[in-house]
Amino acid sequence: MKIELASSYGFCYGVKRAIDIAEKHKNSFTYGPLIHNKDEIKRLKDGFNIGLIEKIEDVENSNAIVIRTHGIPKNELAVLKKQENKIIDATCPYVTTPQNIVARMSKEGYSVVIFGDKKHPEIKGVVSYAEHENHAFVVLDKEELDVLPLKNKVALVSQTTKKPADFLQIVNALILTHKEVRVFNTICNATFENQDAASELAKRADVMIVIGGRHSSNSKMLHSISEQECKESYLIENETELDANWFKDKELCGISAGASTPDWIIQNVVNKIQEINN
Ligand code: SF4
Repeated sequence: MKIELASSYGFCYGVKRAIDIAEKHKNSFTYGPLIHNKDEIKRLKDGFNIGLIEKIEDVENSNAIVIRTHGIPKNELAVLKKQENKIIDATCPYVTTPQNIVARMSKEGYSVVIFGDKKHPEIKGVVSYAEHENHAFVVLDKEELDVLPLKNKVALVSQTTKKPADFLQIVNALILTHKEVRVFNTICNATFENQDAASELAKRADVMIVIGGRHSSNSKMLHSISEQECKESYLIENETELDANWFKDKELCGISAGASTPDWIIQNVVNKIQEINN
């Protein structure tokens, strides 16, 4: 069986940057997981003594706090600043962009629609940048728009990991019902590149392995895209989850990995598949 890596996979610019920043600040803490990968978080703990604080009330004064890749809500940032913590901001610039757009457009009197998942940390952060709670609304599909108290002036942003085709559905629905719609395409290119490469490889593969955290939306998305082209697609966090049966009588095994999956985990998976294959 041949093993082939997608032409684009794994760590994106924002994650590489966040890890570089964290490694330069030994003995600090991240507020919330820095990235959606528990093995990488463990590596940072073991090698750089970078701790993890999950709740804002557990942050003590004067800690060095690294802000995670997907940002945090504005009010929580204000609390951390007030406590005289040293703030090391590792928020990805592609996430800072929708935060700033939401702040600006809500200040300019627009209703802001955020296409994304309310529960995702990135979106919890982005929505918090509106001037008032009733200036910004998070939706996952166009039906949800009907019940929102939107003004005629609407601005639209997207969660960075969403599919462009789904974003377009929201754009189209808004344009039909509102006089002015300002569309900001805040979907991240890294996501497109990994997705297109996974889809292309899945078309040819007999089995697809997507490596990524179970809480990582872009890994879950890669898995769902792979599954559309290759029924035997599996999402795993690391090599211990591989099952030898998946590779029986297969000719091509494709591999893709989410934007928060480190190279060392991908290599471990490739090694283990080779071992199973021999
Ligand atoms: S996927 Fe895009 S937005 Fe998210 S951290 Fe990576 S570069 Fe930034």
